[in-house]
Amino acid sequence: MTQDLALFGGVPVRKKPFPVWPRYTHAIRHSVEQTLAEDQWGIGSQTIERFEKAFARFQDADHCLAINSGTSALWVALKAAGVQAGDEVIIPPYTFIATGAAVLMANAVPVFVDVEEDTFNLDPGLLEAAITDKTRAIVPVHIGGNPAHLDRILAVAEKHGLPVVEDAAQAHGAEWKGTRVGALGIGGIFSFQSSKNMSAGEGGAIVSNDAAFMDACYSYYNCGRVPGGDWYEHHRLGGNFRMTSVAAAMLLPQLETIEQEMALREQHRARLDAWVESLPGLSPLRTYPEVTRSANHLYLFRYHSDQFQGIPRDVFLRAMQAEGIFTYVGYTPLYRERLFIVNTREYPWLKGRHYSNVQLPVCERIATEEAVWLKQNVLLGSEEDVRDIQRALEKVTTAMRSDPGRFLSLTEA
Ligand SMILES: *Cc1c(COP(=O)(O)O)cnc(C)c1O
Repeated sequence: MTQDLALFGGVPVRKKPFPVWPRYTHAIRHSVEQTLAEDQWGIGSQTIERFEKAFARFQDADHCLAINSGTSALWVALKAAGVQAGDEVIIPPYTFIATGAAVLMANAVPVFVDVEEDTFNLDPGLLEAAITDKTRAIVPVHIGGNPAHLDRILAVAEKHGLPVVEDAAQAHGAEWKGTRVGALGIGGIFSFQSSKNMSAGEGGAIVSNDAAFMDACYSYYNCGRVPGGDWYEHHRLGGNFRMTSVAAAMLLPQLETIEQEMALREQHRARLDAWVESLPGLSPLRTYPEVTRSANHLYLFRYHSDQFQGIPRDVFLRAMQAEGIFTYVGYTPLYRERLFIVNTREYPWLKGRHYSNVQLPVCERIATEEAVWLKQNVLLGSEEDVRDIQRALEKVTTAMRSDPGRFLSLTEA
């Protein structure tokens, strides 16, 4: 027998919270105390240097620059990749605002290329048609920590002589054909903001195998200074985007625990994917066969209202939340953000760009109808936690299919 849904006054599947994230450990406390007591707090910090070396190694990259946020890392990387005023930068519309904001901060023009419905990643088949003589860079986003199709994107980029900057803000440790993401194009960026798989509260990094690119990054992130130059010698318009040693001290011990967390995320995602696949009306996302490891930052899947007599996604989410499983809608298409109602006095280089005319059908559909998000901490719980999610998914979808009218009446305002 099916129990009545919590949405209708029944007993919820679960009341317990999921694991707290980020996690405060003794190792982090010790590392921070030691750094504060014994190291420089900023410039000259050995801790920062150690972190840069360790994170470069972790991402299979030759170089790493520790930065104060993912957003500034992306601005720095775009500038170092050669993006200048009025240039176009291709990005997907299904991403965090920072991907688009960093392009605007570089006085460049975001050009949106639609995503795929089953990966939520940039559709490589649509990429080439978006390239113009003004295109200066391509920024694929590894959404939810699940790598975009790097081979196809890099092939198009190479054909047109364009640099690829990976937005790997959500993809710590993810792999493409056995190599960690980040340095597969000219370079890539990571975020260590609170919600990410590694966190210093705030923070970011750029990784790359290209020494000249990294020298340019150093300059943009460090007040326009150049490696080997005098301290008061400024070659470019750069800022102070340096990381503090405390942030680096918080991150170093996490490189010791992330493997274990990644394994847990993988195991739990596989289980949830199989479950979601088995439930009519829901579908899991796909990972390309070339992805030897996903970072599984968020747990994302799709809801198909046409298989529930048109019950909208919001009702499904409400029913899941009532069962004690926090699910939410995630991103809206980036070009629909108010920011893109262009103010040509503030952004004169966007004159003639009418983002209100942009309409990318897959992004629109997944953002407004289909995508369902679970926060990353749900993947870090116990088997029991995963079973609760499975039970709630089954309980809610079964009830919705057996008595859709009851749910549809909820939507009549
Ligand atoms: C978090 C995030 C960023 C920005 O990182 P911050 O550290 O918050 O500035 C950029 N891109 C994506 C896809 C992100 O998820």
